[in-house]
Amino acid sequence: MNNPRIPFLSLDLQHNTVKQEIQAAIQRVYDSNWFILGKEVEAFEKEYAAYNKMSFCVGVGNGLDALTMSLLACGIETGDEVIVPAHTYLATWLAITRTGATIVPVEPDENTFNIDVSRIEAAITARTKAILPVHLYGQACDMTAIMEQAEQHNLFVIEDNAQAQGARWLQNLTGSFGHVNATSFYPTKNLGALGDGGAVTTPNEDKAQFVKQFRNYGLAEKNIAVRSGINSRLDEVQAAVLRIKLKHLDEWNEQRRQIASLYLEQLNGIGDIVLPLSDKEAYHVYHLFVIRTEHRDRLQKHLANAAIETMIHYPIPPHLQQSYSGLHFKKGEFPLTEKIANTSLSLPLWPGMTSADVERIGDEIKVFFLR
Ligand SMILES: *Cc1c(COP(=O)(O)O)cnc(C)c1O
Repeated sequence: MNNPRIPFLSLDLQHNTVKQEIQAAIQRVYDSNWFILGKEVEAFEKEYAAYNKMSFCVGVGNGLDALTMSLLACGIETGDEVIVPAHTYLATWLAITRTGATIVPVEPDENTFNIDVSRIEAAITARTKAILPVHLYGQACDMTAIMEQAEQHNLFVIEDNAQAQGARWLQNLTGSFGHVNATSFYPTKNLGALGDGGAVTTPNEDKAQFVKQFRNYGLAEKNIAVRSGINSRLDEVQAAVLRIKLKHLDEWNEQRRQIASLYLEQLNGIGDIVLPLSDKEAYHVYHLFVIRTEHRDRLQKHLANAAIETMIHYPIPPHLQQSYSGLHFKKGEFPLTEKIANTSLSLPLWPGMTSADVERIGDEIKVFFLR
């Protein structure tokens, strides 16, 4: 008998747990006849700010806009330089591009996949205005080192927390260190909406105010425009759904961590597999479980034949994308980033995944390397 398919991600368990509550919330918004910038968004902003121990949260349309507006709130513009990981999702870079500022990529630490903080100093120039760390795959960057360097050089820090809601560095949550921080509620994130969504969190009232106006055409009040903004608002239905899911985030992250620790046990010492390393200061929330092997493509095929779905994050690094050919980065310019792109494989992981599934995947990987 064939084994049932193991998908890369399943939202079934999450959604079954909260199905009735979410359906009632959607009904509530429907009956209110109020769909944009109302009570639900206001309540979610308060609740998400409180969760992050931040004074302010502003709900926006998506993660890319959250990042872009965070940079703009810091006054980042053409001529400025922003330090960003070379190894990240394309959207992190795009936000910088949209401000007109110059992208200054820094190579990752091969073991944690996050920006190598020991390489930041060398990337700082007189024009550097900000550091944009990304807590990739759910693991906190070394925020102690990043905040120290930012303070020393008088730089803004804007965290990309799209993959790490609920993660911590030492005692503090990611997304609560920087001057302004951005996150995404894309459905597959650790805290996901039923469509697009995002948020900016900040301890600074002026910056929160800037984003509040910018997301809504630049309006300070009805019909009074104080800057040229955009239309990027979190809507009432998504906010109502996120309020319910937020209550389960810690529990779902804990489940992700348990699955990750099972994987770490199962895959220890198999073939040439390099397992993801976690800093001891980091509470990793495993948005993704990413392993590395020189036999990546063949292993992916082997798993696909065994009905196990995997993914690659990310097969083409931003600096080698056609859309960035204008920046004239060369192949080989960021060798660690390119090595990760060529060797990494993301294994299935979601809250509610069974240990039997993890064991089956572990067994298939062992079979592959024993052949
Ligand atoms: C998902 C993601 C984004 C973009 O979020 P969207 O809501 O899809 O625009 C930005 N940065 C990282 C690291 C992400 O994973």
